[in-house]
Order: sequence, then C-alpha cells, then structure tokens
Amino acid sequence: MKCMKKRNTILLLGIFSIIILITAQIIIIRGVWRQKDEMLNLRYRLFSQDALELLARQWSTDGFDTARMIISSKSELMLKMMEERKTDTLSASEKKELFDYVSLALNKEEDLSAFLSRYFELRGTDKDFISKIVINRFELVDYNRRIPVYLSEEFASRMLARADTIRRNGPPPNMRRPVRTREILIKRFGNEYNYYRLDFEYRIDFSDKQKMILREIAASLALSLFSILLVVSLFIITYKNLMEEKRLSNLKTDFINNMTHELKTPLSTITVAGRTLEMPVIRSNEEKILETAKMIGKQSVHLNQLINMILEISMWERTQFQLEKKRVRIQGFLNEIIDSFKSGGGNGAVIARNYDFGELEIEVDPVYFTTMINNLLSNAVKYCDTEPVIEIEGFTLDNKINIRIADNGIGINKNDQKRIFDKFYRASSGNIHKYKGLGLGLYYVRKIAEAHEGDVTVSSKPGKGSIFTITIPY
Ligand code: ADP
Repeated sequence: MKCMKKRNTILLLGIFSIIILITAQIIIIRGVWRQKDEMLNLRYRLFSQDALELLARQWSTDGFDTARMIISSKSELMLKMMEERKTDTLSASEKKELFDYVSLALNKEEDLSAFLSRYFELRGTDKDFISKIVINRFELVDYNRRIPVYLSEEFASRMLARADTIRRNGPPPNMRRPVRTREILIKRFGNEYNYYRLDFEYRIDFSDKQKMILREIAASLALSLFSILLVVSLFIITYKNLMEEKRLSNLKTDFINNMTHELKTPLSTITVAGRTLEMPVIRSNEEKILETAKMIGKQSVHLNQLINMILEISMWERTQFQLEKKRVRIQGFLNEIIDSFKSGGGNGAVIARNYDFGELEIEVDPVYFTTMINNLLSNAVKYCDTEPVIEIEGFTLDNKINIRIADNGIGINKNDQKRIFDKFYRASSGNIHKYKGLGLGLYYVRKIAEAHEGDVTVSSKPGKGSIFTITIPY
C-alpha cells in the first residue's frame, strides 16, 4: 500500500514536471517566434521605406501616378453627371460602382509592387509577396462640396479617437487596438486632389513568411523537441528501472523469508532431537537412540540440500551450464524418472503415461534432465488441493521431442504465468506458507531446457489445472 502510494507520487511528480517543461518550452518558442516575426516585419518595413525614398528621388513618384490620373478623370465625370442631374448625392449602387472602380484602378495601375519586388531582390531577401491595398476613405470633391462615397469603419473610429485625443489631450479612451495581421503596413497614403480625396493603405503579405520564420528558428525548435523527448524517455527509463528494482527487492525479501522458514524446520527438529538424546530415559533405550540419530541424519541431509541449492544458484549465475550429455533412449529414461518419482515424493499421485517414443535416442544431461522433469512433477503434486492426477504426454514434432505434463491442480492466473519462470518468483507472492517453496523450481526448469537448446511453456486456467510443455531438439 505504502509502495503504491510512493509509486503514484513519483509518477504524478514526473508527469507534472514534464507538463511544466513542455509549457515552458512552448512559451519560449512562442516568444522567439514573435520576436522573429517582428524582426522580419521591421526589416521589410525598413527596406520598403528605403525603396519608397529611392522611387521618389529617382522618378519623382510614389508608384500611384497612373492610378490617380484614372481616378481623377472618373471623379470629374461623376461630378459632371451630378451637376447635370442637379443633385448632391449618389445612390448606393453608384457609390459601390465608383468604389469598385477606384479599387480596381489602384490595384491594377500601381507601379510600387514591381519596384519593391526588384528592390527586395537586390537586397538579397525574399521577393515574392502579395500586395494589398486597403481603401479607408473616398470622397468626391468639388469646390466647396464633399460627396462621401466610402468610409471604412476602422478609419472612422481612428479619426474619432484622434479628435478625442486632441480635445482631452489624454490617451484616447476607446481607440481600437490595431488588428494583428500577417500583413506588413508599408505606407498610408492620404491626399486631396482636384476632384477627389483618397485615403488608403499599402500593405504587403509574404505568403511564406511562416516558412521563413520556421527556417530561422528550426535549430532552437529542434533542440526544444529533442530536450523534451530526452526528458520524457529518461523519465520512463528511470521509472521502469525503479519499478523493476522494487520488484526484485520484494522478490529477494520473499525469498529470504521462505528460506528462513525452510531452514528453521530441519534445524529445530535437530535441536529437539539433540535434547532428546540428553535425556537419561532415552539413552538407555538403544532403539530410541537409533531412531533419533536417523532423524538427525535425515534432517541434516535436507539442510545440506537446501544449502547446496543456494550455493548452486550463485554458481549458475556466474557460469553457463556445463552439461555432460549422454545418448539415452528417451522412452525408457522417462519411464525411469517417473517410476522413481512415484516411489519417492509422488506417492499417492495418479500418473497416466501417454507417450511412445519407440527407439528414439536423444542427447541429454541425465542429471539435469531428471531434475527438470522431477521439478515439474513435484509442482503438479504440491500445487494440488485434491487427489493429484497427472497426465504425461509425449510426441515428436519438427525434430523436437515434446513432453507435456498436465495436472488437475490449483492453476495459475494469466499475470503470474508470465513470471513463474523468473528467479524467486512465487505466484501467491511470497510469504504464504501453505505451499512451501523458494521460487526456484521453474527457474531451474527453464534454465535446463534452454541449456539443451529447448524451451518450456505453460498454459493454465485457475481452478482447473496447468499444462507445462518442454520441447528439446534431437
Ligand atoms: P516454488 O514451487 O518453490 O514456489 P517454482 O519456481 O517451482 O517455485 O514455481 C513458481 C510458482 O509457480 C509457484 O510459487 C506456484 O505458484 C506456481 N506453480 C508452479 N507449478 C505449478 C503448478 N503445477 N500448478 C499451479 N501453480 C504452479
């Protein structure tokens, strides 16, 4: 429970720090992006100012002379028409038509864009852009008459705000904040001529400005992404390692508990036997002495076996198996192993044999092979709450012998099935002494099978039983 809590805290802390890191990186990148964007705008604005100055100096024009001439003659025509009609107003459709005409003239007959483009190219920057002309106000002007044709909302509010500022000499209260666009405002034109008054803005829009910024900040963007990726993977690896270490340390604790328990039983029997031998009543009875001595001997052998087992684990860890292979006739050899199991620990188990390997011979280490089969058989008996019924099946397939040991025991759930071959792993997780063991039997089985270039697998259903299959090439 405590461990779960700690694990969750670590996980939460990790996720929290990663989120903070990602947010920080996003803020930084956004800042860099905005800065680059502004720098780019500034650069183009400066270049454009230079270009406009050059145009004025060299050609005495701002690039809109032709357009103005066309608009002027159209305005004159309109004013004449109104005079003939003896009216001071224009209908909505006439206004719209006039506005469209002016807009078209400005867009079609301007020379500024071509000049700017050439100038940008000369300065070694991107020359492809889209120009945009925004008309703010257009009025026809005739001596003392002003006939409004068009007034943009934004321009009107700007004028209002300016008037307000002049009156109150303070900051305008409801001045609209300029709208952030991707366009760069190059110049505002506002002039009154013989027949009209025109205010408009000339803007440029770099279609691949985003790409240009991206190119410029690519290195820092990649670095940010890389650092995020690095931190996330480091966190995952560390967390996984931590969990694995925790699991191993739990397994080791379980093993020590089980081992202590296993060692205590023969030791206490020997102690009691020693005390018994000290009693005068016993000493005079030769039969009792012999019985006690036999018990001491048996328990010492058991103790010895346990200690050897521990010694063996560390030896197996350090060195590869040294198999002493012998050619054996598998049918007879398997029969022998099962027979001696039946007369030993397997007393009481019903064992059905269902194999016929004929005269097939196979090279195995007889001692290790016997240990492997014995471990599986004794587990089949040990992990069974009723009368054990074991079925041993054998066949050959793809130049491999298959030995399948099925039992009617308690079974193993799916999660444990993945781990039971690990060192020290016990399915009921440790300290439960109902089934004695150290979590090494199946670890040995796998090691021995692998040393014979074979394999062992399990399939099981809790409550129904388990099937262990050993395959070994021949
Ligand atoms: P041990 O028997 O000493 O605990 P093993 O390595 O032999 O260690 O087995 C590991 C675990 O696999 C056991 O703790 C047990 O829960 C489970 N197990 C092994 N064989 C069987 C079986 N035939 N039926 C049910 N569970 C089994």
